[in-house]
Amino acid sequence: MNVYDSARMADVLKPLGYRPTETPADADMVILNTCHIRDRAAEKVFSELGRLRVIKQARAAEGRATVLAVAGCVAQAEGAEILARAPYVDIVLGPQTYHRLPEMVARAARAGGAVIETDFPVEQKFDFLPDATGPQLPGGVTAFLTVQEGCDKFCSFCVVPYTRGAEASRPAASVIAEARRMVAGGVREISLLGQNVNAYHGAGSGGGADESSWSLARLMRALAEIPGLVRIRYTTSHPRDMGEDLIAAHRDLPALMPFLHLPVQSGSDRMLNAMNRGHTADDYRRLIERLRTARPDLAFSSDFIVGHPGETDADFAASMALIRDIGFAQAYSFKYSSRPGTPAAGAPMPVAGPVGDERLQQLQALVRVQQDQFNASSVGQTMEVLFTGHGRKPGQLSGRSPYLQAVHAAGPDQLIGTTAMVKIEQMLTNSLTASLLSPVPTRPIPTRANPLLERACA
Ligand code: SAH
Ligand code: SF4
Repeated sequence: MNVYDSARMADVLKPLGYRPTETPADADMVILNTCHIRDRAAEKVFSELGRLRVIKQARAAEGRATVLAVAGCVAQAEGAEILARAPYVDIVLGPQTYHRLPEMVARAARAGGAVIETDFPVEQKFDFLPDATGPQLPGGVTAFLTVQEGCDKFCSFCVVPYTRGAEASRPAASVIAEARRMVAGGVREISLLGQNVNAYHGAGSGGGADESSWSLARLMRALAEIPGLVRIRYTTSHPRDMGEDLIAAHRDLPALMPFLHLPVQSGSDRMLNAMNRGHTADDYRRLIERLRTARPDLAFSSDFIVGHPGETDADFAASMALIRDIGFAQAYSFKYSSRPGTPAAGAPMPVAGPVGDERLQQLQALVRVQQDQFNASSVGQTMEVLFTGHGRKPGQLSGRSPYLQAVHAAGPDQLIGTTAMVKIEQMLTNSLTASLLSPVPTRPIPTRANPLLERACA
């Protein structure tokens, strides 16, 4: 979401004459777009600011001014604290205020003092930010599109409800219009974004029955009609918001890729309750079964936290058991990081650091085995790849499989920006190599059942 927001900030600054530079030393303005989800991410901001201070001073010595801005969730959470630690910062702006950036730049220049904007304005930022007109990365054929922001779920450990604010959805018409412009600009795959993307309930696209709010499934059905948009993904979902129509969308929409990131955090009901997740481990297992019934080759990814306050060996063992039962194609896992202001920050029975490290290692080793098994099961398979750019070797193209695996194949440049059928030849550490079967663009065809599911059921 920060990548998407950064691109919108660049768009909003364009009319003022700003354009991207290669290095901070060439920049009249530097914006750090920050993340507050874990302590380490937040601390990185201050070490980066220290480096930028040196650049700002060097430029000042040459008579060149540098506006330094801190955006994102660290700005939202720490506000004036940033200026206390780094008084050379000019602008501190929270994630809901990016549309006001030009005005803040003007104010900072006029006043010569720092500007702080960390309120949650009544107007929605997306009503004022320019739409994306193409991919966010130069030459990219894939793009992010934010459809929903914020969260009302208040998991015990999480800062998102405080930094991104209450859950809000963009109107369907605005999302569809932005997607159309992206596709006209060469985008072939759109990843719909939201902290709780499947809680999406945007206002309908206008007129008659459309007045009611749209679900994510309905939105995706409309997006799938856009000619030239061959792939749709969405992230991040909450198990509680995985409605029947969304499960059906996985069955019905060929453009909806068979890869789902569905964080569960823990396999222990005791911990899920302490985390305020609102579901049990078996709810999650049943949900995965329903999704696999709808789309047998659906591959899953998840997030896990180890070492949440109160987590015992038995709770951790329950997480490992859940991973073994389900079989993930990949997963992200984190050691619990205490975030000021969240309910878990003051919770009793903290887990000792080394215990958390040990659990994290074990969990990551298990996920790695599953990831390797999943990738190995792709060897020999025929599947569709969306080619997004050049590989590292001459004549090599790189792209993604439907299951989000990185794939390399020898092929002509004209294939970049198109899909083609390949045969997977070999598994490397973090990617697959493949040979082209047809350079003709095709639609995705589900070709196989998930071998991990078969193993789990056996
Ligand atoms: N909305 C998504 C997750 C958003 S945050 C969900 O509900 O699942 C992304 C991930 O960061 C979370 O899934 C969680 O695994 C991790 N995370 C969030 N807060 C954390 C904390 N305090 N310590 C460690 N990991 C955390
Ligand atoms: Fe954070 Fe996700 Fe929980 Fe919301 S649902 S509080 S974003 S972990």
